[in-house]
This record gives sequence, C-alpha cells and structure tokens, in this order.
Amino acid sequence: MDTKDALAGDPSLWSEEEYILSLARIEMLQDKLNKLRTAPGDFIHSTTKTAETPEELYQGISTTFNAFKDGVGDFLTTQSSPEIKKIYEHAEACIKADPDLDPARSKTVDQYGWVDKAKERGLLNNKEEEKDEGGPLLSNEEMSQAMANLVQKYPWVKASWMVEQRMAEISFHAVTIRLRFKVTVENRNSKAWYTVSVSSVPPKHGTDAFLAGINSSFSQRPSPVNDLPTLLEMIISYQTVRSAKCTICNKVLDDKLNWPDLRCLGPVSSPAAERVYLPYHKSCFAGAQA
Ligand SMILES: [Zn+2]
Repeated sequence: MDTKDALAGDPSLWSEEEYILSLARIEMLQDKLNKLRTAPGDFIHSTTKTAETPEELYQGISTTFNAFKDGVGDFLTTQSSPEIKKIYEHAEACIKADPDLDPARSKTVDQYGWVDKAKERGLLNNKEEEKDEGGPLLSNEEMSQAMANLVQKYPWVKASWMVEQRMAEISFHAVTIRLRFKVTVENRNSKAWYTVSVSSVPPKHGTDAFLAGINSSFSQRPSPVNDLPTLLEMIISYQTVRSAKCTICNKVLDDKLNWPDLRCLGPVSSPAAERVYLPYHKSCFAGAQA
C-alpha cells in the first residue's frame, strides 16, 4: 500500500505504525469471522453424532451452540470497539478527501501478516494479543503423548522433542524438499501459546519465498489450531505442499507461480478428529472470502 502517495496532503495522515496496528486489528477481526464459518457443520455434527442418552445429546448440542454464541458475541464486541470504529472513520474520511482511494482504483494490501508485524514492533498490548491466541494449558505428559502418537501414526516422520524445553522438531520429505518444523509451546497466563517455524534441510537455494509462505500460513492459522494434536496434523498436511492441487482452482501453481501453501480444515462431514486440512493458494482463499 502506497499510503504516502494516497494520502499526500491529508492533515489526518497516520504514521506507519498506526497503519500496521490498524491492519493487525482488521486481521484479528477477520480471524474471528473465519472461526464462525465452521458453525453450520458443527451444528449438524452435534445433532447426528451418537449419544448414549438424550441428556448427552442435549449437552453436545448445547455446548456447540454456546461456543457459537460466544464467538458471535466476541466478533460483534470487537467490531463495535472504539479501536475498530476509529479505523472505519479514518478510512471513510480518507476516501472523501481523496477520490483516488475509490476501492475500484486503489491499490491492495496483503490480507495477512499484519498481526505478526504489529507484534514485532510491540504495537499490540497483551490483552489484544491474548484474546486471539492461546489454547488449553499443555502438560509435559500431554506433549510427550501427542508426539508419540504422531510418530506412530506417520512412521515416515522424523521427530524429536524435549518436554522440559517445551520444544519439538518434526521433519519429512515433501516431494523434492525436506521440511523441518520447529514447534515451541509456552504455558503463560493459564494458556498454551504455540509458535511454529519451518526451514528446509539442507538449506536449498531459492526456497526462501516458499518457506516464508508456509510460515505466514502458520502465523495466520484461520482455523482454531491452538492444541498440539491439531497443530501437528496441520504440519503433516504440508507433506503434499509441492504436489497438492488448490481446493479452489484445482492447480498446483497459481498465476504468480505460488504453491498452495495455505491449509484450512475441511468441511465437517465426519467426527472432528478425522477432519482433514485442505490446500489453498492464498489468493484463491482470499478471493473466495470476498
Ligand atoms: Zn488456487
């Protein structure tokens, strides 16, 4: 986004930091909306799964409904917060002041990655950061168990983990490249926080953009993956990153020669544990949401 040109002469010009923080807040709002998209499937699943007693069935439906209600409430509260209102008002004022900002004529910005940028610069306060991420606390035993299950289920995966250091490494071949994922877990403020980074072994020339694409897919994580077993399944889904076709355009490479490096949980047609991650190009996924 070329804000300097677009807003030249505007007395209400924001600083670069204000723009990054605003884009990060919009990204977090989008993330809350994304999380609501699985609701119809979750409802259907909660009414059709086997229950021992009517009470158990009711409990399942009620839990699903309450989670959805909380998600909608959270989205609406954030959407009407002073911080988001300020962004809408600023955007409106800028469009009025400069007709070149008409959406049909203006430039586009990346949809994701702003939360990371804002965090790097220390722009988000802890409260805002923690609203969006963090899963249930993870004990050392649970971590060992999840890792042991992983290598049992996928014998072609090479994995090592150090529960005291709260760190795990997972590597496997993805067609022509060997990917190595590093997962760190931090229990803090009654929540577990996950960080995932990916590299190739040995480092291969020309893979930087490809790996950066996967890294950004992890940092944005549109589906709720803040528990270790689900996160590990997401990692495993990258085994096909150089051969899988995008779920939307059905091509391996998009027009800009990007791989389908985004992974999202597929629709609910089976119990949650069996849901699979589907590959998408970021451009196709963003287009489908627009
Ligand atoms: Zn595509």
